[in-house]
Amino acid sequence: MSRIIDRCEALAQISDSSAGISRLYLSPAYREGLRLVEQWMQEAGMSTWVDAAGNQWGRLTARAHDAPVLILGSHLDTIPNAGKFDGILGVVSAIEAAARLHAAGKVLPFHLDVVGFGDEESVRFPSSMLGARAVCGQWQPEWLALADADGVTVREALLSCGLDPSKIGDASRVNDRLLGYWEVHMEQGPVLEQESLPVGVVSAIAGACRSRIRFTGEAGHAGTVPMNLRHDALAAAAELALSVERSAIAEGVVGTVGQFSVRPGAVNVIPATAECSLDLRSIDDGVLARVLTEIQATSMASGARRGVAVDWDVYHRAEARHCAPRFLALFEHAVATRGLPVRVLPSGAGHDAMLMANITDMAMLFVRCTGGISHHPDEFVSAHDAEIAVDILMIALEKQAQSVLSAHSSSGLESGAPAQANLGAS
Ligand SMILES: [Zn+2]
Repeated sequence: MSRIIDRCEALAQISDSSAGISRLYLSPAYREGLRLVEQWMQEAGMSTWVDAAGNQWGRLTARAHDAPVLILGSHLDTIPNAGKFDGILGVVSAIEAAARLHAAGKVLPFHLDVVGFGDEESVRFPSSMLGARAVCGQWQPEWLALADADGVTVREALLSCGLDPSKIGDASRVNDRLLGYWEVHMEQGPVLEQESLPVGVVSAIAGACRSRIRFTGEAGHAGTVPMNLRHDALAAAAELALSVERSAIAEGVVGTVGQFSVRPGAVNVIPATAECSLDLRSIDDGVLARVLTEIQATSMASGARRGVAVDWDVYHRAEARHCAPRFLALFEHAVATRGLPVRVLPSGAGHDAMLMANITDMAMLFVRCTGGISHHPDEFVSAHDAEIAVDILMIALEKQAQSVLSAHSSSGLESGAPAQANLGAS
């Protein structure tokens, strides 16, 4: 059996609910999960701490106190009724890489920090990735007053975990000498499985744009108003849904109309209003903007033709985040060195790495999952694939160590530094 999978299973036993896995940010089970992860980090030779935002950290220390820092990690919080691998896999496989280094007595020329973030799922509070935002120095004081469904505020939740809300600023790593942030994550999609590949290198995390669109027509009797005199709000909205599909396919983006409501909603009444949502994503911000403009224009034209008013509210925009080219090349090299075909693919879902890209170079490695299933108890990643992900991390770490050492020696800072890195067995 694989220790990685065993540990994912062990964390899955810690839940706020007796039905399914639930470790919401700063809940009692979340806090208990951190203690178990902390123990694994210590077994891997790491010094550990929990920062003021409730992120779990472990450090495999370099020889030089002032060495730069490479951060590996993902998130430890879950949605309600979650699977065992989303987020967890990335933290546990990073600890596994640290454990392998520790067992071999190897010391890297940089501090290796492993982080388990909180609030990546952003389901407990009306918030977005609070843990990673604190690390990126983006924490806003007013977030302490955000309350969950039971009226518990972020401040109270932090205190209940033994954390000091007045120290949140200390969680920021903005002023550290960061080399980068690497995240292993289950794919949460069907591509790798379809292509029979255990892992894939992420090119970028897609930007997203969310809108609400309201169509206002005129209600009327389904039997008496002739077709050419109608202002059918649903017919206009349906045209929009189909134009989203058409444009997304033509432009290579993904677009989803996931919510749809019609009023008054009676079998014999022409729809007076219709409201729908639109979620558009692409790793190319320019293409995303163009597709949105195109869909908006199409919907306005169909509304005008039908005598239906169309109102757009574009309420959320997030830019795409690209993985650093040097890390992309490094991961491609590591995958090839492991003897596997190199597959580069975008991430349609958001991740902590998206925020970490604000303060350092970022890279991600996707691991195949079964059936593309995620955010569901049936999530599955095999031991075989998880071990491969750690192998690739090890190759990438070795290569990264070489490049840090050669940069160091060519800068003449340390005479006699080894030209060929051997990770300095101690
Ligand atoms: Zn995740």
